[in-house]
Amino acid sequence: MNSCPRCQSEQSACRVEHEGRDAQGELVWTVYYCTACSFTWRDSEPEESIVYAKRDAFSRVDLNKQYPVVMPPPNRD
Ligand SMILES: [Zn+2]
Repeated sequence: MNSCPRCQSEQSACRVEHEGRDAQGELVWTVYYCTACSFTWRDSEPEESIVYAKRDAFSRVDLNKQYPVVMPPPNRD
């Protein structure tokens, strides 16, 4: 894990939340939490979710920007 896949905060801003281990105790996956943007991810998720460059632009966060709408409104069609 190099940096947050959502806001690109440095690794020092991200902490390990949980380590998933198999029956032999081998590490299988790790869940990280970004203290800058509150994003949580597991390192075994698809790259489209956990690699900043591959994430949809809508799913990225710029910590220097104001976001008047946090979540898109529900589809009321
Ligand atoms: Zn972040």
